[in-house]
Amino acid sequence: MPAAQADPALVVRRDGAGPATSSESFRSWRREASCRAMGCEVFFPPEDEPGRERAAKAICAGCPVRLPCAVHALVNREAHGVWGGLSPADRERLSSHL
Ligand code: SF4
Repeated sequence: MPAAQADPALVVRRDGAGPATSSESFRSWRREASCRAMGCEVFFPPEDEPGRERAAKAICAGCPVRLPCAVHALVNREAHGVWGGLSPADRERLSSHL
């Protein structure tokens, strides 16, 4: 997809000047989220409950906005919770390769 037509929720700023996703684009992809009407407890499981993390990842696997969600969490360095099917440990591993 040409840059001029790129989804603004997926544009990653490389100048370090701030988060890549605006609050407007954040709200736009959140409207399509599979978890929109769910409680946060599934997506912010305690570390000693891996079953809840797996449950969250299973929901994310079928979510139509998984990619912008994961990008949002990576760019904004979300320290907690499952975003886009990625746990904090998953994001840390990915970030170490960027
Ligand atoms: S990818 Fe997961 S956490 Fe992100 S919006 Fe979809 S269901 Fe929610």
